[in-house]
Amino acid sequence: MYNAKAYSAASATAPLASTRITRRETTDRDVQIDILFCGICHSDLHTVRNEWSSVMPTVYPVVPGHEIVGRVVKVGPAVTRFKPGDLVGVGCLVDSDQTCPHCQADVEQFCRNATFTYNSPDKHLGGVTYGGYSESIVVDEHFVLRVPANLDPAGVAPLLCAGITTYSPMRRWGDIKGMKVGVVGLGGLGHMGVKFGRALGARVVVFTTSPGKKEDALRLGANEVIVSTNPEEMKQHTGTFNFILDTIAAEHDINAYITMLGLEGNITLVGAPEQPLPVSAFALLFGRKSISGSLIGGIRETQEMLDFCGEHNITADVEVIPIQKVNEAYERLVRSDVKYRFSIDMESLKR
Ligand code: NAP
Ligand code: ZN
Repeated sequence: MYNAKAYSAASATAPLASTRITRRETTDRDVQIDILFCGICHSDLHTVRNEWSSVMPTVYPVVPGHEIVGRVVKVGPAVTRFKPGDLVGVGCLVDSDQTCPHCQADVEQFCRNATFTYNSPDKHLGGVTYGGYSESIVVDEHFVLRVPANLDPAGVAPLLCAGITTYSPMRRWGDIKGMKVGVVGLGGLGHMGVKFGRALGARVVVFTTSPGKKEDALRLGANEVIVSTNPEEMKQHTGTFNFILDTIAAEHDINAYITMLGLEGNITLVGAPEQPLPVSAFALLFGRKSISGSLIGGIRETQEMLDFCGEHNITADVEVIPIQKVNEAYERLVRSDVKYRFSIDMESLKR
């Protein structure tokens, strides 16, 4: 075992602060990674503040971070796919049983024995796993991703969660080329949804509560922007969408978006608000519409997404910050004041 510098929160109300954590020595199939950048996902904030206490209560201290890019420094003797010096990524998953039907089907995120990157029982050290707000991490090679060399590492980090979470449901919906696709909420996930929707050939329409984001949405690739608080703008699009991706992190009226769907349209939730959302049966019945959920993506699909990003030159729009600004960044994230993802430069942890 060895010590690594990290940032942790001691309770739901405590700020994140500098600490030291224990990492395991590499076992046969492990890869040890020096972390270069880690994105700040809204899930980090939900977890630090224990906002998902009814589903996944937070164990303190918590070290968040599951949008990790780093360089391999050491590998176990049985590792075949990586060597020291490789640029790699780690997302929300660091282990699973790799034998159950879900693992066999390359959807390890649904494995009953999956280990998430933080706040998940640690099979090696006991206690819970610690995430990427740290200088180093050790991960089974199956859960380590190759990062295309042509992409900027700071902007790649958010692909490991925000990227795969929006790419996966869009691919799952089928060929969205030429379809009218809505993206609700222009945050970390939403802005990636716009980039993928556009790259996949859809006609992308952004729903935002922030009129100030209109120009950015168009620059990011949206064909049109609707300010969702304006009933007139909303009304014009009633019944016209094939597919809508809802990324909102807080309570909101989902029925307003179901109404936007056309015949047999689907709205997929990826946002995870603390409280349940009331759904109008009638909004679904008329038009035989459906509502679904989606959780990140499996490892194979995450690699496919990274390769797709390499080919299409897609990264997240990031504001790079030192880790000392992480608490301020959380406050700004709550106010939707980030364009469009914070990426922590882990070099700052050495200060
Ligand atoms: P984010 O950067 O904070 O973006 C969320 C966006 O939602 C905001 O930028 C804002 O966009 C909109 N919004 C926020 N509060 C709102 C409100 N009260 N009413 C209407 N719109 C509101 O968060 P994120 O990192 O993209 O994450 C979004 C959600 O997805 C979180 O709940 C997160 O935990 C969840 N998540 C799920 C998965 C999964 O696998 N399913 C993976 C990662 C994250 P506008 O300013 O444009 O309105
Ligand atoms: Zn995330």
